[in-house]
Amino acid sequence: MELAFKGGCREVGRSGLLVNGEILLDYGIKAGDPSEYPQNGMEPKAVLVSHGHLDHCGAVPNLMYLDPDVFMTPPTAEFTSLLGRDTLKLAESTVSGVAPFDPEDLQKLSQRTRTMDYGETFKTNGYRVCFYNAGHIPGASGILLESESGESLFYTGDFNLEETRLVPGAAEFPEADTLVLESTYFGEDHIPRKETEERFIESILETLDRGGTALIPAFAIGRTQEVLMLLDAHGIRAYVDGMGRDVYKILKKYPEYLRNPELLDRAFGRAISVKDRQRDSILKEPSVIVTTAGMLNGDRHSII
Ligand SMILES: [Zn+2]
Repeated sequence: MELAFKGGCREVGRSGLLVNGEILLDYGIKAGDPSEYPQNGMEPKAVLVSHGHLDHCGAVPNLMYLDPDVFMTPPTAEFTSLLGRDTLKLAESTVSGVAPFDPEDLQKLSQRTRTMDYGETFKTNGYRVCFYNAGHIPGASGILLESESGESLFYTGDFNLEETRLVPGAAEFPEADTLVLESTYFGEDHIPRKETEERFIESILETLDRGGTALIPAFAIGRTQEVLMLLDAHGIRAYVDGMGRDVYKILKKYPEYLRNPELLDRAFGRAISVKDRQRDSILKEPSVIVTTAGMLNGDRHSII
């Protein structure tokens, strides 16, 4: 198989891997002002999207003029569309002000997308494809691609072997001739998750004790839900902003992609929604606010 990396090497963002000039795995945006995109000038017949984070799916709407076949899991399809709408909104408020695609592209993307669940083998343009649970966020997939001649490639996308509160750990990955592995944190020793969680909770309780406000910036897709579940498990009631709630509403439709839907419901049931006009009044009393990082700059739309 011939691989061409179009972005996402030695950098975080704008992932794009073209296989044999015909199948594109991910097509993301590197967020910024201005944002960066993978190299273009290719003509993939099909696009397979590993998961619904901006750096992996954000630029897929840009390819709609090529009429590609697009495949992803149902949650990834919803997140891609949510992020697409957010990108359009964000373009209105940035310095460059140029949207990378228009609303018609988003509409076309949803028409061209076929959703596939984990473990469902399907065919596109002579290739066999199967998505495997990658354990990263709900719907995140490792992608197995097999050419007609029997050569195989497994592309992990972002993955996590260990379970989190939100999702179970990655499925056992299949054997393949070629493995393309996400390695953002390769070579770094991680403090055990439990210990990290304990320190995190401790620092929040200390902040509240001092009469302070704990502002927790978190990506809207995956991280916000995980953090709220963690806080809820420790009896800490938090404020959450709109985008994290929108994602929760999507997740409610796909309980089979979650580790424990009831605990997610409980966490959001107890959390308090932040309305824009309430921000100032919330900050006057000790509180915990989970928000997309953009909100800290007064811009709630930035969600990676
Ligand atoms: Zn990701």
